[in-house]
Amino acid sequence: MDAMTTEPTAPLTITNALIFDGTSADLVEGSIVFNGGLVAEVGDVEPQGQVVDAAGKVVVPGLIDAHFHAYAVGLGGMEVERSPLSYSALVGAQRLGLALGRGFTTVRDVAGGDIGLSKAIEKGLFASPRYYYTGPAFSQTGGHGDPRAADVDVCFSHGHMCAVVDGVDQLRQAVRERFRTGSHAIKIMTSGGVVSLTDPIRVPQYSGEEIRAVVDEATRRGSYVAAHAYSPEAIRHSVENGVRSIEHGNLLDEATAELMAEHGAFLVPTLAAYDAMNRRGEAAGLNPVSQAKNAEVLSAGKDAIGMALRAGVRVGFGSDLMGELEDDQLQGVRLQIEAVGVLETLRSMTSVNAELLQNPSLGSLRAGAVGDAVLLDGNPFEDPAVLWDESRPRTVLQAGRVTA
Ligand SMILES: [Zn+2]
Repeated sequence: MDAMTTEPTAPLTITNALIFDGTSADLVEGSIVFNGGLVAEVGDVEPQGQVVDAAGKVVVPGLIDAHFHAYAVGLGGMEVERSPLSYSALVGAQRLGLALGRGFTTVRDVAGGDIGLSKAIEKGLFASPRYYYTGPAFSQTGGHGDPRAADVDVCFSHGHMCAVVDGVDQLRQAVRERFRTGSHAIKIMTSGGVVSLTDPIRVPQYSGEEIRAVVDEATRRGSYVAAHAYSPEAIRHSVENGVRSIEHGNLLDEATAELMAEHGAFLVPTLAAYDAMNRRGEAAGLNPVSQAKNAEVLSAGKDAIGMALRAGVRVGFGSDLMGELEDDQLQGVRLQIEAVGVLETLRSMTSVNAELLQNPSLGSLRAGAVGDAVLLDGNPFEDPAVLWDESRPRTVLQAGRVTA
């Protein structure tokens, strides 16, 4: 399937639709004409080309998952990092195809991915969302991206999802290498995490000097830095040193939410991951250290989203599912809706995530936007389950053609 082609496509019209444009609470009634891979016209317009009748359905922009991991072949850091890259890439292709079937027409991979996987997607070798990647995330020694347990005496410098890089000069060189090889943005680990074994969750990682060096390189390139951070002290440390995108942010407090808003930072919550690790982690072989850490961040995550929105922070959407938990992607939609409602969650998955990706032509169904859309089997504002219930059929369009 030629999922990612940028060649102009023949016209296609969705008729009798109720349309969510990515932003407005007022749904538009009418048709959407796609032409040349883009949205050509919306509203009371003449159909062109192939017609898809959407009576009784609601059309939303193609969904965006801003925290995805193609190469997360398992739940343990070391398992992921020691897998042969050919295996990780094939598993990644499968994970991407499944995400597209759920309506995610774009993903941002914030630890992993590389130019080879991206090239295969651009050539249309397999069906995939549009693929933005950071490449392996940077971690300090003993930080969230260092997969070694304390009693493991092996050398680790880089794997497929993370690389251990310490020091300003080394970080500058590593960031330049990421941009040489097509990275969309840079991901760093600035607090402890759930799956890492030796770092307390709350403690900030990397010195301010190191973070500023990474931000300086990324900003000069016209890009930005995303940081894994949970606690107020780690979020503050990241944002004050120039990080634009806070990943997870579960332990956020009000003062830190205000600081994020002042700095124009985004929050990308990843509720699916904690819920899935809580329900299914033990059976899936999650380390007991990680299970205990997960419990600490699980319940706080939902409160953080409302707190961020009230402070004026732009809140996106991510899933962050590792290994066999990947099939819980739409549960993240349910959890975010339970936290802040349908409209905010739909905005997060479309227009806000598009802004985060620095590509406002994604995540919108206005004339001129990229022609990615999902036809839902009902109205999510009346029946939110239509967004997460996988037994309800959905039709996915990418670049103005039906892909799934
Ligand atoms: Zn992650």
